[in-house]
Formats: sequence, C-alpha cells, structure tokens
Amino acid sequence: MNNKIWLSSPHMGGTEQKYVQEAFDTNWVAPLGPNVNGFEKDLENYIKEESKVACLASGTAAIHLALILSGVKLNEEVICQSMTFSASANPITYLGAKPIFVDSELDTWNICPIHLEDAIKGSIEKGKKPKAMIVVHLYGMPAKMDAIVAIAKKYEIILIEDAAEALGATYRGKNCGTFGDFGILSFNGNKIITTSGGGALVCKTDAMKQKAIFLATQARDNAPHYQHSEIGYNYRMSNIVAGIGRGQMEVLDQHVALRRKNNQFYRNLFKDVKGVTVFAEPTADFYSNHWLSCVVIDAEITGFTREDLRLQLEKENIEARPLWKPMHLQPVFKNCEYYGAKEAETLFEKGLCLPSGSNLTDEDRSRIAEAIMKLVK
Ligand SMILES: *Cc1c(COP(=O)(O)O)cnc(C)c1O
Repeated sequence: MNNKIWLSSPHMGGTEQKYVQEAFDTNWVAPLGPNVNGFEKDLENYIKEESKVACLASGTAAIHLALILSGVKLNEEVICQSMTFSASANPITYLGAKPIFVDSELDTWNICPIHLEDAIKGSIEKGKKPKAMIVVHLYGMPAKMDAIVAIAKKYEIILIEDAAEALGATYRGKNCGTFGDFGILSFNGNKIITTSGGGALVCKTDAMKQKAIFLATQARDNAPHYQHSEIGYNYRMSNIVAGIGRGQMEVLDQHVALRRKNNQFYRNLFKDVKGVTVFAEPTADFYSNHWLSCVVIDAEITGFTREDLRLQLEKENIEARPLWKPMHLQPVFKNCEYYGAKEAETLFEKGLCLPSGSNLTDEDRSRIAEAIMKLVK
C-alpha cells in the first residue's frame, strides 16, 4: 500500500527544536516564558494593524475568552456563521448563551451579510439585540468584511473573527483577524502552522490583551497570596509549545505560498471537467491562504457525487473530507434559531476538501491526479 496522503498534516520548518531546546536549557518549562512572549511578538509583527496578541492553549479557548471579554452572559444571543467547525459555536454555550446561526453566501462560503442583518433584526424585534457575532474565514477565504464590519457598526454589536483557518489571508490587503473587536487564531495539528495544539486571541489594545492573559491564568488579583475576585481559566500557552510556534513563524509565508500552489494545481486539474468547481477567490480583494482546497461537485453533470470521489481517493489511501456540516443541521444545535436558505446545506452536500498540506510532494500530487482522473474520465 502507498503511504497515506493526509488532508493537512503538520509541516515543520526545521528551527522549531532550537526554540524548544532553549526552553529546556533555561528551564522555562512552564505556561510562560521567552518563547510565549517571542511568539506573541512574531504574530503581532506579522498581522500588523497594531493588534495585540495573547497566546492561549487553543483556538477554542480564544473564542471562549473573546465572548467573556465581550460581556456575553446567560441567555443572551450570539450570532454565528452556521457553516463552520463546531469550535466556533461551542463556547457560546459554555456561557449559557444562545447561538443564532446564519447561512453562507456562495462567493466566499462565509456568513451572508443579508441573512446576517435579518438575524439581527429578528432578535431586535424580540427585544433582544445579539451581544456579539462570530464570523469565520472558512478554509482561509476571507469573509466579506466591508459589509460585515458596516453591519456590526450600524447595530453596535461586537464582532469576533474566527480566523483559525485564515492566518496569512487578507481582505483588501488587511489581515484576517484584525477587522473585528477580537480575532482568534489556531495552531492545531492540521492548521497552516501548528504548535501541536494552541491558539491566540487578537485584541485591539494592550489593556484588552492583559485582561485576556489575566483570565487565562486563573484571574489572580495583584496580591502576594492567591486572591481572586473573578472566575479564571487555565488557558495560557506553554512555553514549549510557543517554541514550536516561533519556528513555524519562520516558514509561514512559505506555507501560504505552497498551499496556494496546491489550489492552482487543483484548478488546472479540473479545468476541463464540467460540473466540478474549485473554490477560489471571487475577486482580487480576497487573498486566501487556501488552507484547504475544496471542490463542489454537481453530480447531475459529472455522473459522480462528492462521496464517490471521497471513496475513490480513500481506496488509494488518500484522505479527503466533506465540507463542514452546518451547525444548524447538527443534532446538538437542533433547537437553535437559523436565518437563511440552503446555501450552506447545499455546499455540505456537494463539497469535498482535498489534500492541501504544504508538505505535499510532486509525487503526492501525481497520485492524487491519477486517482481523481480514474473517476473523471
Ligand atoms: C480549528 C478551528 C477552531 C478551533 O481551534 P482549536 O485550536 O482546535 O481549538 C475554531 N474554528 C475553526 C473554524 C477552526 O477550524
């Protein structure tokens, strides 16, 4: 059997172990230290816009803290893009708040500004303005931020950008994660850079970053003994993990370029295949990191479904995966409100994520092309 080709696997650059070794040599084996500070600085320099970054244990923890810092309370409503990974929505429920899910639009697969405004109006009519809204840059594709930021301003609702999949992506030249009141990043094992596990909260001010770090380290008051006036969390990033992050920052741009090259490969491969659309930027305003390359398959034209293609690839030991199943279709969220039509649902039915790692080799790409073409013909 051939080696397994993964959807997206960790890709080390080579200097990660140097930073980890430094942590051992200086005994900073703790959830603080020079690598944590260094990784934060690296991220701040990278995303610019004078953002401040707090490194955390996971992207999910970052969303949780963003919601707490937004002041979301029991029974309040938070709007969330339906088409996403469950980690975007789960932290809403940690606070006893209620997610309201919103459909996607077809250009970017991200939250539809029209349905978004409907959802806000719907909540206001019930006498409950949503406290915050979570917008996702799915698969590294920037959402329509001009329209979304305008809506957030118009209704004075806190904007949280889930940029877990979008580090290195930009909209009109500005980095994803820096448009909202908060942005969140993830360094999980399959993301564009990985620290094995980890995340970050992007804040507008240093004061907000310090508040996030305070909550992430058990909310200790300033006293010689352990004193607490607020509920805290154990969400800070380890200095070992941050060392991997510092090494990964040195290859981030390279990883973005390689993932974009994969997208180009799929666009060429499917160029003459009717009924298969490779997901790509709608206009030059959008610069995707193409974290995952995805296709939409119209089975009536192709004669095969996305599941046929997935199984064909699986037979050849190549991993592919359906798009995220929308949250409003998930059993766990079945009682939540939903605004929209069937765009996200249709994408889920027809869409497939293809191997997209920055570590794919030419040989891997040949194997993928061969496997796909067996079905396409
Ligand atoms: C990965 C991911 C997260 C969660 O990040 P973790 O670091 O795994 O907790 C959140 N949202 C989206 C869209 C993701 O892809």
